[in-house]
Amino acid sequence: MRLVYFSTVLFAMNSAQRSFLRSRTQTRLFAAPRKKLPERRVTISCLACGTKLYRYAKGNGAGSRLVKVYKERIVNDFTDEDKPCTCPNLDCAAEFAREDVIHGRPAFKIIQGKVIMK
Ligand SMILES: [Zn+2]
Repeated sequence: MRLVYFSTVLFAMNSAQRSFLRSRTQTRLFAAPRKKLPERRVTISCLACGTKLYRYAKGNGAGSRLVKVYKERIVNDFTDEDKPCTCPNLDCAAEFAREDVIHGRPAFKIIQGKVIMK
């Protein structure tokens, strides 16, 4: 009896360790952004009306084109919670992005020509 109990515990531990290892391996397979926020901060605004949309911790060069916004890197979000990809200025209400998952992380895919980054 005792031996059966012991081997059950061992098996449970091993499968937990296995799944832990598997999740670590999967994380490494993605070219995912680093967990620590990049130093650089940019302000992303609506190109049509100039309303601020996000304060964002941008990973690669500030000069490079903005194509995606990882949700975890948004420092300040000025958009309406209920309309995440829409300019919060009600007179404008331009749709500037689409929700997406990029490298396994929730993100917004920016529609080119809809936002300006400073
Ligand atoms: Zn706007």
